[in-house]
Amino acid sequence: MNIYVDKDKCVACGMCVDSCPAGFHFGSDGLAEGKTDIPQDIVDDVWQTIEDCPVAAICLK
Ligand code: SF4
Repeated sequence: MNIYVDKDKCVACGMCVDSCPAGFHFGSDGLAEGKTDIPQDIVDDVWQTIEDCPVAAICLK
């Protein structure tokens, strides 16, 4: 599975990077980016970030 961040929505609050560093990092533009081909054992944490993102910028496919 891959994590996608809509950079047009992301406000760089850092919540996803702080709470799930295995799935997210900041790009050189200062906005969050999702990692690709993520391990199954972080999927629950990613779903939590999807719920908690203040601007609903994250999806998982
Ligand atoms: S939680 Fe949402 S708004 Fe905050 S850095 Fe992550 S993607 Fe951007």
